Amino acid sequence: MQKLANYIDGKLTPAASGGWLEDFEPATGKAYARIPDSHKTDMDNAVAAAQRAFPAWSATSAAKRGEWLHKLAALVERDLEKLARAESVDTGKPIALARSLDIPRAVANLRYFAAAASQFASESHAMESGAINYTLRSPLGVVGCISPWNLPLYLLTWKLAPALAAGNCVVAKPSELTPMTAYLLSELCMEAGFPAGVLNVVQGLGPKAGVLLVEHPDVKAISFTGGTKTGADIAGRAAPKFKKLSLELGGKNPTLVFSDCDFERTVSESMRAAFSNQGEICLCGSRILIERGLYARFRDEFVARAKMLSPGDPLEEITAQGAVISEAHLQKVLGYIELAKKEGGKILCGGRRARLDGRCSGGWFMEPAVIENLPYDCRTNQEEIFGPVVTLIPFDTEDEAVAWANGTPYGLAASLWSRDVSRCHRLAAQLEAGLIWVNCWMLRDLRVPMGGMKQSGTGREGGWEAMRFFTEARNVCIKY
Ligand code: NAD
Repeated sequence: MQKLANYIDGKLTPAASGGWLEDFEPATGKAYARIPDSHKTDMDNAVAAAQRAFPAWSATSAAKRGEWLHKLAALVERDLEKLARAESVDTGKPIALARSLDIPRAVANLRYFAAAASQFASESHAMESGAINYTLRSPLGVVGCISPWNLPLYLLTWKLAPALAAGNCVVAKPSELTPMTAYLLSELCMEAGFPAGVLNVVQGLGPKAGVLLVEHPDVKAISFTGGTKTGADIAGRAAPKFKKLSLELGGKNPTLVFSDCDFERTVSESMRAAFSNQGEICLCGSRILIERGLYARFRDEFVARAKMLSPGDPLEEITAQGAVISEAHLQKVLGYIELAKKEGGKILCGGRRARLDGRCSGGWFMEPAVIENLPYDCRTNQEEIFGPVVTLIPFDTEDEAVAWANGTPYGLAASLWSRDVSRCHRLAAQLEAGLIWVNCWMLRDLRVPMGGMKQSGTGREGGWEAMRFFTEARNVCIKY
């Protein structure tokens, strides 16, 4: 069994306590690696190493910091195939998805912020009274980046790239369920010759290593992506210490389908929005609201396609639906199917555990589920399930569609399908979501603000938003 290590002060090290946690392959249900069960000494060592590295790293020119990120990006790109396979084994996602989405996006994150480092500019405000203000933006110091299991390297690099580009030193805490690509990235940092302590990766449990990072007095900011409950816990711990916080949390995203949509595109993209990565993407459209006149046609076509989406070995090229992350998560998702039935839902297809043969016979697979006949305000339609489960809801008026789309505690993303341009603009301004896609889904430009409203989080990532988050603004006012 492979033993992974922490990456602290430029070296690979086991947990100081000697403790280990098991890392499972979702497709087989078997442990295949061990990771350090990090605790206080490890976190203290990582933060201290980052603090030691900070003066030199923050004094390094932005162009040079960009060069380091470009170097790392080139190594990730060189190892794309190895990393895609590792991500697929660690998460259960289809290798084709890891190869086309996760790892290329990690490369793009590093390259985007490598360039941003030298292009980031600050504001200047001239006053009629004969004064000029300018804003100095300096890095914060040591920052913590905590990432989830669903898009491991993609979301880890989405945080550490802007943090490093802005001149901070980073302590990263990847999910204990998917530690592998963060470990492989540590190896690549060593190969690139990254200065010791600039980036540190501490593996381990959220309530243990994660909490220590959040509470560490020398960590100035926490950039977190994960569940809403965890986000609330982190906010509660960080707020009294006045740390900067970026929280990217859960979602219960609506897909709004109007009768005048491009039917073929709408069905195929709303399938992708519902079931990509086994529905384990925060942006997945898990509630499809359909104008009544189109409802029956849409439902029949959607269900026919969902039935064809049977889970397979994630390492096989043709697999489009892999395993879910853990047995516990599978049971949680199956529990929602039972809840949906109790709430009066009709299961149109799927919703059962899927049993595969051979190597994957012990894996955590589920048949994609489509459910109808549930009101918008039942628990199934209010709570984040984060699995291959989608509900279909007919609506009669635009106002009803907007009210139901907005009628959850979440506000992360929404997608809207219609050929009526006026309607699209009108509704885009009314939907309570940080990301609104019109006639598309998950089309991502790294410059745009990314984040949620309501219980989907606070703050925005992406583009200058991320560079601003990872810097402190100091205004200088000069009277002349
Ligand atoms: P999670 O909240 O359980 O864990 C996320 C990370 O936080 C992990 O690294 C975990 O170890 C750590 N952690 C757990 N408890 C902690 C604590 N008390 N203090 C500090 N760190 C702690 O989330 P998850 O199950 O890994 O990920 C799934 C969730 O992430 C879903 O709700 C999904 O919607 C959300 N998500 C959101 C976005 C977004 O951009 N908004 C993107 C991806 C995933």
